[in-house]
Amino acid sequence: MMLDVNEVSYTYGDREIGVWALDNIYASFEPGHFYGIIGPNGCGKSTLLDLLCGHKFPDRGSVSYWGRLLSAYGKKALAQNIALVPQALPLNFPYTAREVVTMGRYPHLRRFAAPTADDRDCVDAVIDQCEAQSLAPRYMTALSGGEKQRVVFARALAQDTPVLLLDEPCANLDVCYALLLLDIAAQKVREEKRTVVAVMHDINLAARYCDQLIFMKDGRIQAAGATAKVLDEGILKDIFGVEAKLVVEPAIGAPQVVFLR
Ligand code: ADP
Ligand code: MG
Repeated sequence: MMLDVNEVSYTYGDREIGVWALDNIYASFEPGHFYGIIGPNGCGKSTLLDLLCGHKFPDRGSVSYWGRLLSAYGKKALAQNIALVPQALPLNFPYTAREVVTMGRYPHLRRFAAPTADDRDCVDAVIDQCEAQSLAPRYMTALSGGEKQRVVFARALAQDTPVLLLDEPCANLDVCYALLLLDIAAQKVREEKRTVVAVMHDINLAARYCDQLIFMKDGRIQAAGATAKVLDEGILKDIFGVEAKLVVEPAIGAPQVVFLR
């Protein structure tokens, strides 16, 4: 197994109070799959991503990468393998967008070394791929929420990791850039056998792009598996309390959801 979550519980507070942000979670992630994590606000999705990249460590259970605990990896080794695009973007320093994308290369640089010509080529290629040329010279502090989000996604691509974790990557994007971002992620999965794990609120985008879905509620996993198997009207009712109708849309060959209320 590549990335394996085994019996994991996590609390932000006192364990004695027994409020678990994650409560006995099992999950595993393999190369060449696009995983979607779906669930209500506050159910533990971002917490799970933080545990998957070693930003947090479980109070119970373990997270391992290729059979070794995440906590046994050094920071640099982890950053060479797992990239996170966080939900809240903490970038309020006056860096240009290009500088931020270049930071994605830092885990690959030798100690105290400056980016090489190859690193600069990689940054240029990623900026082109993300259609962010016009953003590159601008200061992050002067960008809109959606523009910042595109730059931070580009930084994660420049990090060039086998595993890409995306926390609501399309939250601030217009439909055109949302599709561009997800197409790039899907291409990484299909052609380079990378692993993408994305927290998504748009169930129709998740149904279209993710081949595996994980439904969470109250810190637990309610259902997980192949999209075609787990996505149905029952799970949407269970998780969100909404009535929905599932139809397969031939134009995209994927199930899509119509919400009835
Ligand atoms: P999601 O991403 O699914 O919306 P989170 O993983 O961010 O949810 O949060 C899970 C639970 O943990 C929520 O109840 C949230 O209020 C709580 N939580 C998140 N971050 C903190 C924090 N820094 N301190 C205390 N509680 C937190
Ligand atoms: Mg979240």
